[in-house]
Amino acid sequence: MKYAEVVVEIAAENVSRLFTYAVPEGMALAPGTRVLAPFGPRRVEGYALRIKDDPGGVPPEKIREIIRPLEDYPALLPELVDLAYWLTEKTHCLPVEALRLMLPAQMRGGRVKEKTTEYAALADPNADVDALAAAEGRAPKRQQILRALADGPRPAAEMRALSGEGLKKLVERGIVALRAEETLRRPFAAQTPEKAADPQLTRDQQAALSEILPALRRGEGRFLLCGVTGSGKTEVYIRAVREALEMGRAAIVLVPEIALTPQMVSWFRARFGTGAAVLHSRLSPGERFDEWRRIRRGEARVVIGARSAVFAPCERLGIIIIDEEHEQSYLSDKHPRYDAREVAQRRCEHEGGTLILASATPSLKTFARSLPNMRSSLGRLTLLEMPRRVLDRPLPEIEVVDMRRELELGNRSVFSGRLDAALRACLARGEQAMLFLNRRGYATFVSCRACGHVMKCPECDVSLTYHREGDMLRCHYCGMEMKPPKTCPECGSPYIRYFGTGTQKVEEALKERFPGVTSVRMDLDTTSGKDAHAKLLDAFRRGDAQVLVGTQMIAKGLDFPRVTLVGVIAADATLNLPDYRSPERTFELIVQVAGRAGRAERKGHVIVQTYDPENYAIEAAARQDFRAFFETEFARRRRGLYPPFTMLTRLLVETPDEALARRTAEALAAGMEAFFDENPELRRQVVQMRAMEAPVKRLRGKARWQVFLKLYSRGPTPRVIEKIEALAAQPVEGAQVYLEIDPATML
Ligand code: ADP
Ligand code: ZN
Ligand code: ZN
Repeated sequence: MKYAEVVVEIAAENVSRLFTYAVPEGMALAPGTRVLAPFGPRRVEGYALRIKDDPGGVPPEKIREIIRPLEDYPALLPELVDLAYWLTEKTHCLPVEALRLMLPAQMRGGRVKEKTTEYAALADPNADVDALAAAEGRAPKRQQILRALADGPRPAAEMRALSGEGLKKLVERGIVALRAEETLRRPFAAQTPEKAADPQLTRDQQAALSEILPALRRGEGRFLLCGVTGSGKTEVYIRAVREALEMGRAAIVLVPEIALTPQMVSWFRARFGTGAAVLHSRLSPGERFDEWRRIRRGEARVVIGARSAVFAPCERLGIIIIDEEHEQSYLSDKHPRYDAREVAQRRCEHEGGTLILASATPSLKTFARSLPNMRSSLGRLTLLEMPRRVLDRPLPEIEVVDMRRELELGNRSVFSGRLDAALRACLARGEQAMLFLNRRGYATFVSCRACGHVMKCPECDVSLTYHREGDMLRCHYCGMEMKPPKTCPECGSPYIRYFGTGTQKVEEALKERFPGVTSVRMDLDTTSGKDAHAKLLDAFRRGDAQVLVGTQMIAKGLDFPRVTLVGVIAADATLNLPDYRSPERTFELIVQVAGRAGRAERKGHVIVQTYDPENYAIEAAARQDFRAFFETEFARRRRGLYPPFTMLTRLLVETPDEALARRTAEALAAGMEAFFDENPELRRQVVQMRAMEAPVKRLRGKARWQVFLKLYSRGPTPRVIEKIEALAAQPVEGAQVYLEIDPATML
């Protein structure tokens, strides 16, 4: 008798352990297989993680049998089970929550099925078809079927069309066999890029690869590839991935968000053909599942995807590359809150792979890890620099325009005189332009002119954004929509005002000022449909439009050879956010968006409009000088005790009951106080600690309180973190407690 230890598919603390089941006689079950099992009066799905020969002390009368496996292969690789358990500790989630990350969500509950096609074939492929046909004597349809199958299997449907009855007879008599074969849905199947030849590597590319490839062969290495925009980082990825494949190993390339996907995919497909799989959130459930299957079966050895692709079921992983590593989208925004960069590092360390983090504007935290004298719990990164663009193309020239002067001159439009002139010239030359608007903090919110009341989401305590299409107010957190009120709900005044500059407004202003100009707009509104993104970008690439207006979405990674002008409408939008990282975000956005200009033969020109032209982040960005920005910002972080010199952590409490949220947060803070009383030497690690309302007081209908802690990152802080972790792990009736360490945002 065999036994299986099963994690059941129920995310609750009280059933969060391994349950022992008996494996029925004759059932082949490999560890990692999903199963259906009885659980109390119900049947539940579960993960059979271990198979063993004895029940391990569980009394035999308590042991029930597994009903059946859900697939005939183990969906979970042993490495990923191991990774899941590491994640439970890292992110304080239940094993089942971590295991879920390893599979396409649609697999649970049997929501997607493999799409199969039924084939008919000769039962004996070597049979003498003439003899068989002759034996069918007076049944010409059956003879036809046999002749059709002489050349190999055919879809059963085709044969049924010839004669359903005939096929049935042949199957009954064992002459023809039917079998189902999986057909895989293929995203981007329609787009078959030409196979591209390898370009001659630049000196910088060669230098980088001369360090990466030997490490890859040894199955180790952690690199930070710091290359300016247009330095040809992608080509480095391609060569490294190819080396991994030649070694019989698999590769994962993570790209931020969807913006990069179609382009990145077609580049990789041009080199790796169908050996590359794509995983991102906009695939249909079926496509997603099928891509996952191709990876799991080892048919696709290169995986390109967004954050969650770091969990791709690759065996013999050789390399993980994280493009634009500074992107926030690598931090999961929901529980379990993992950092894909850390997960990638852990996978590489355990599976013998090389890690490459790459960016033109690495995050401060990552760059600090490449400095010789910085210590980090994550270990050192080897810095590889590519300071020049390919083919000696110049970096774009960035011009900063002081919008205060424009106002003095009486110009109230979104276009400064300089941007207006540059755009005119660009269009006259028949070239393309991109207008970039950082929407965050700049969204069109609606407020009352009389009393200042701002329309907010009743569930989320964040301001609603006005969408002209459909004339709707929408909450960007929970998706709630409502008609804008005619009068102020607070004071009844009819003077409702629409603030801010959205992409729609910029596009309108553009059309007004440049009659006849053609434009494409990319933002949350215009890209929500499936493939909408790719279609808009393709239209722009083909030259159907002269100007692309967009949000952050257009800042990253895109490569349009005909774009020679980039306008940043309001650089200050990110600068004034209440977040210690706002200078970093501003620097990074300007450099990234500027990097879209002049990527081919013609030189690029960038105009950055700002009300704060002396700001060091904007100045350094204008010179595209990452080092200079790093030095200033790093010193500021040191002085202000911000990460990476400190760790910002919080225990976040969410519950519909406001009073309970407060009580819970206060109890957690008291728990920490008691701990410091017992361990006075650890109190010195604390820069700041307090229980308070979270900046966003309500979200999706729940009240939110937090215990905020700022800790020195050096010294015995891990012991403090252990305590916080223990506190976070204690269940609180009616409330959720989440622990966040250096989260992407603390709203
Ligand atoms: P990055 O990601 O560093 O901004 P890309 O990888 O997008 O830069 O490369 C910029 C452009 O240079 C692309 O059009 C790419 O095809 C081209 N390119 C890259 N490497 C070479 C090379 N060795 N020779 C010629 N062109 C190259
Ligand atoms: Zn909401
Ligand atoms: Zn009012």
